[in-house]
Amino acid sequence: MNFPTDLEIASEAKIQHIKHIAEKIGIDHDDLEYYGKYKAKIPLSYIDEEKIKKAKLILVTAINPTPAGEGKTTVSVGLSDGLNKIGKKAIAVLREPSLGPVFGMKGGAAGGGYAQVIPMVDINLHFTGDFAAIEKANNLLSALIDNNLQNKKHNLNIDPRTITWKRVMDMNDRSLRQIVIGLGGSNNGIAREEGFNITPASEVMAILCIAKDFEDLRERLGNIFVGYTFDKKPVYARDLKAEGAMAILLRDAIKPNLVQTLEGNPAILHGGPFANIAQGTNTIIATKTGLSLADFVVTEAGFGADLGAEKFFHIKCHYGKLKPDAFVLVATIRALRYHGGATKKGEFDKPNLQFVKNGIDNLKKHIENAFKFGLRPIVAINHFANDAEEEIQFVKDECEKLGVKAIIADEFLHGGAGMTELAAEVARCAFECGNDFQPLYKVTESVEHKLETVAREVYGADNVVYSQKAKNQLKTIYDLNLDKLPVCMAKTQKSLTDDETKIGRPSNFKITVREFEFAAGAGFIIPILGDMMRMPGLPNVPAAEGMSIDKNGVITGLS
Ligand code: ADP
Ligand code: MG
Repeated sequence: MNFPTDLEIASEAKIQHIKHIAEKIGIDHDDLEYYGKYKAKIPLSYIDEEKIKKAKLILVTAINPTPAGEGKTTVSVGLSDGLNKIGKKAIAVLREPSLGPVFGMKGGAAGGGYAQVIPMVDINLHFTGDFAAIEKANNLLSALIDNNLQNKKHNLNIDPRTITWKRVMDMNDRSLRQIVIGLGGSNNGIAREEGFNITPASEVMAILCIAKDFEDLRERLGNIFVGYTFDKKPVYARDLKAEGAMAILLRDAIKPNLVQTLEGNPAILHGGPFANIAQGTNTIIATKTGLSLADFVVTEAGFGADLGAEKFFHIKCHYGKLKPDAFVLVATIRALRYHGGATKKGEFDKPNLQFVKNGIDNLKKHIENAFKFGLRPIVAINHFANDAEEEIQFVKDECEKLGVKAIIADEFLHGGAGMTELAAEVARCAFECGNDFQPLYKVTESVEHKLETVAREVYGADNVVYSQKAKNQLKTIYDLNLDKLPVCMAKTQKSLTDDETKIGRPSNFKITVREFEFAAGAGFIIPILGDMMRMPGLPNVPAAEGMSIDKNGVITGLS
């Protein structure tokens, strides 16, 4: 018999009414805002700063992944179930999936195997409408901009050629990347170049994930940079009086969503910014809500540790005043084979100790990096069916030499029961490892210092070079007084360098900053180190082609 699909496992789970899940973490039934029987929003009043100080925050990240993904979400869900299994009160706090990957290639993002969050179909489709609200708030600003251009009497004198704000939609649709709008004569707006990004790439998404409360949300929305006037003055969303109406559209989206794992443990899914040009982690509000309701929060940072964890530390921890208490580094044997040279398709799925030996330096670099941030990592070897015992033993031995434990994570096949050893070690380490998180830079330092610190310390680069375009854009950042913000590095996740073909632990390399962007509302500067996708395309055979619904409303083909 074939192993059941994620959807089959999720459909067969005995799902509980969400009020029973809420009960486990002390939320009053009447306080929940129900979205059907299995999803609910938690009011912001449950955030409790005193409880947040006592609860333990566990960050799950990974080594540089293979193109197939290494299972951070799956391990996060399994680890939270494992903690509950050994009698700890834990919540998994994660991002919400985007429709783009669901219908494209990667599939859903609610875990896998026996470590999933449910209701899987709802979560992967419209869920509680947060993405739709973000899209509308984003596009309201676009409509206000174009209306301002059209208005001959009361306009801000915006130069349409300088507008950087784009419309968004939550779908992979490459033909919308660059378009012309406003065609058809004087009643139809001012013709100009425009484009669509996918919703997770919207700055509104990044803002929602950083905002503390409604007021902070409104203020950040007002700080969004739109473009320049013809006499070169910057224009912000607040100049268009857009922020109040945009914030209204987000009044429900700002509240975190409560769901459950396959094992009936609470999970909060909230926000889903891209990990390339944004911070790649769920809302600060959700993380704080989790810390207010449980003793342990397990959360994930998107992409490898060099990107996701670094941004988690320098952006999320900075704005949320959060400190991680444990650091779980997911490694798979197949990714280590890949870093050891098994880069051809199919090659990294076969046991090969030599490849693992060649590739182990990638894991070692991420271990060293964790220590630089003041954290003792725990390596979770996410177990795949084709891992050989000698390969696993080798990884354990190498980690031990560095004073680090490597433990098998068997969540995919066994759920929380396959995670009790890892859970026990994580729970112990959160108290006893002497973890004392420190960022590597202060936001008050120069932009160059901040990004060069990341490039040297985290990636292992010798130096950083800037294109002429980047130098000019850097000057703009200083002119606009935006230089005291953290940097949000936009780099490939597949390599420690800015070249995705460089596997393992490269040395003697430089990093090139091609361009700078900034998110004045969200509050970060974006050094662009490669081609960044803001609107993906569908693959030749999109996952959408394999999906359907029968006469009883039963869905097939979601993965
Ligand atoms: P990430 O969060 O790192 O992108 P996911 O947790 O979403 O990765 O997992 C990527 C894919 O790999 C998913 O389809 C998931 O079901 C699958 N997967 C994860 N762990 C395992 C495992 N141990 N065995 C088999 N498949 C797995
Ligand atoms: Mg994930």
